[in-house]
Amino acid sequence: MTAEAPAPVHAEHGSLFTDHLVTARWTQEEGWGPARLGPLADFAMHPGMIGLHYGQVVFEGLKAHRQPGGSLAVFRPDRNALRFQRSAARLAMPEVPAEMFLDAVQTIAAADGHLVGDDPSLSLYLRPLLFASEANLMLRPAREYTFMMMAFVAGGFFGEVVEPVRVWVSRDQARAFPGGTGNVKCAANYAGAFLAQRRAEEAGCQQVVWLDALGSGRVEELGGMNLFFVRGEGPGAEVVTPELTGTLLPGVTRDSLLTLAARLGYRTGVTTITVDQWRAECAAGVITETFACGTAAVVTPVGQVHDSGSEWTIGTGAPGPVTAHLRSALLDLHQGRTSDPDGWMVPV
Ligand code: PMP
Repeated sequence: MTAEAPAPVHAEHGSLFTDHLVTARWTQEEGWGPARLGPLADFAMHPGMIGLHYGQVVFEGLKAHRQPGGSLAVFRPDRNALRFQRSAARLAMPEVPAEMFLDAVQTIAAADGHLVGDDPSLSLYLRPLLFASEANLMLRPAREYTFMMMAFVAGGFFGEVVEPVRVWVSRDQARAFPGGTGNVKCAANYAGAFLAQRRAEEAGCQQVVWLDALGSGRVEELGGMNLFFVRGEGPGAEVVTPELTGTLLPGVTRDSLLTLAARLGYRTGVTTITVDQWRAECAAGVITETFACGTAAVVTPVGQVHDSGSEWTIGTGAPGPVTAHLRSALLDLHQGRTSDPDGWMVPV
């Protein structure tokens, strides 16, 4: 992207890359070298690079939003810096110091933020990446790594209009298991989920519902988002999300919504819920709404659930009022239309 004008929003999410890239190298002998801003361009790599063969790759995702005065602000980048470190540590990789991560966020957002234009529905999605760049096919952690931060201009993950999504329960494939890597953001978690994602799409669904791997039917999360359930209605409604079992990703949006929902007066909590319970509680009118949340999805209502060839509708199938309330509260915060008591928006 080189145009000064805002990007068209109809392009596929993740395809409108901006112009720059921050790069830094780590070696066993020298540790981290300087992070440099350069043009986004192809780069040479050795075919025997460890990251390519053994998947020693972790990444992050966070967004910068246009503020009313025309500046940009990034949502909770410190949380992503921390999760990036935890992901790296889990894969025996060196951690990117938080200061270096946050500096790279500032550098790329300052260089390419103008591409977002003035449209508040657009944002600058930042993609930090850390991969093993040493050429060696011995099965061991690499001794050389590359950190990159790139960006793309994002509209809505599911498009502009917030239509409820249909989700597809994976009964025979698992995303994560106790002691595995489900609670960190490593590339392999996503590669292993693509086949189920394809099956979901073939069944007319947009996302996979992942269950615990032990066959208890416990709902954990979606392929790229966390889940919330609303029990009851109105101001007395309860807003709950699956507890962090170690096999689902601790989403920054999930954490933020627990705080925001409590601030808005809802009862909040974490829960353990099976698919069968989810279905029964929907049928009984106890669960009135379900929504997905994440950096890309923000807050997206779930309308239908497809499980083993049958399907059920949540509530009326239309976006519910609590979902809409939380979505607008989060967007108001992102876009600087409301107070920010916790200092979550970090100016660029
Ligand atoms: N779960 C998974 C598997 C994800 O990939 C994401 C997106 N990072 C989320 C949940 C939501 O996390 P966050 O709110 O930090 O974007």
